Amino acid sequence: MSRILVVEDSLDIAEGLQRSLEYDGYEVSLATKAAHALAVATSDHPALIVLDLGLPDRDGYTVLEELRGRGVQTPVLILSARRDEADKLQGFRLGADDYVTKPFSILELMARISALLRRAAPAVAPAAGAASAAEPAPRPGPISDEALRERYGLTARQTEVARLIGEGCSNAEIATRLEMSYYTARNHTEQVLAKLGVSSRAAVGALLFGQG
Ligand code: CA
Repeated sequence: MSRILVVEDSLDIAEGLQRSLEYDGYEVSLATKAAHALAVATSDHPALIVLDLGLPDRDGYTVLEELRGRGVQTPVLILSARRDEADKLQGFRLGADDYVTKPFSILELMARISALLRRAAPAVAPAAGAASAAEPAPRPGPISDEALRERYGLTARQTEVARLIGEGCSNAEIATRLEMSYYTARNHTEQVLAKLGVSSRAAVGALLFGQG
């Protein structure tokens, strides 16, 4: 599972982000200072870094500059209240991959994160979920939709959500594929996990494809 380093000194934002990311199946490291961020970025090998610019010890730009200077190519998404074009251009010049301004929409941020991760590492589809994003419906696994409804009490909508979880889709991707809000997708995911009696998204895939 992808690890994401969140560099953010505002605890409200950091913890909110951590919750949303973990809910979407990511592992999260938190850093509240630039010095800490550099250490964690090299020790934890995150797949992506969400970087605030206004940090208490040093500017987020210096973190980015130092990372790129050390040859660390981890995708960096700057999350900052600075809305000026000059700030964004500075971020991209120093090697940022994306720039989102605060206040931000969590749905948009999650979508951007999963897009960056997809670009960085062409997805290895988990379990038997070989369906591409372009296919309208997920491939059925060994457990039939009927069984999901009868044995586990899933609704038709929850069955669709379960199939997408089994394919490795994040909540943001499920929201897009099923044309629902991020929060609705998240609620459905919670219900699916509860009804299937599993504690992780990976376990849903294992159960659907008979690898549990
Ligand atoms: Ca800050």
